[in-house]
Amino acid sequence: MPSGPLVKATALHKTYRTGADEPIRACDDVSVEVERGEIVAVTGPSGSGKSTLLHLIGALDSPDDGTIVVDGTEITALKRRRLPEYRRRIGFVFQRFHLLPTLTAADNVAAPLLPYKTAFDKHAKAAELLDAVGLKGRETALPAKLSGGQQQRVAIARALVNDPVLLLADEPTGNLDSRTGEEIVDMLFELRERLGTTMMIATHDAGLAERCDRVVRVRDGKVTDA
Ligand code: ADP
Repeated sequence: MPSGPLVKATALHKTYRTGADEPIRACDDVSVEVERGEIVAVTGPSGSGKSTLLHLIGALDSPDDGTIVVDGTEITALKRRRLPEYRRRIGFVFQRFHLLPTLTAADNVAAPLLPYKTAFDKHAKAAELLDAVGLKGRETALPAKLSGGQQQRVAIARALVNDPVLLLADEPTGNLDSRTGEEIVDMLFELRERLGTTMMIATHDAGLAERCDRVVRVRDGKVTDA
């Protein structure tokens, strides 16, 4: 295992230019480090650049400038064709769950593995993860038959199916009532205990942020307090 922080992002810049409008500096000289096993909250008002930062670290988008090293690999130096391989090592969780409506809970969890040959049984792994997120017995349920909190649990199990080195969660409780949101956060902490997964959670939920090991605050694309 390479030494040093799991994530080291240095001097990231990302500007969006949309037609006649002023360019938007969504990421303006951002540097962030995340230690292995740490759960870091990224907070700030809507539009401050939280999602952009997570997208850059997950290589869903690329910075205009700056470097990102994850688990010893400089992803900002990787050839474009190598990026899918990197993204498979990252788990993504979104506010709106993004489950495939015609697949059962278990098939949604196993879906990222289906194109690949694995040395283990994909469906056994999906069942194991559904158990870990508290959904044992709901393997064959379709998403429409599950509550919002249960759907987010399925989405989290899916994000973990590739044994990611890093879980990136963008407003994971944003679509849930506060009690269900609390349950999801409890579960993320339990998963960290069990699997040691490092997490970055973008949120404007102050309660959630407070529970994390550390808070990185962003405003107008800048880190104001790391
Ligand atoms: P947050 O997650 O904190 O709400 P975002 O990272 O989504 O913030 O957005 C930061 C700024 O960048 C916002 O002003 C947003 O409108 C802008 N932005 C984000 N993505 C794009 C895009 N693909 N094209 C143009 N502007 C974008």
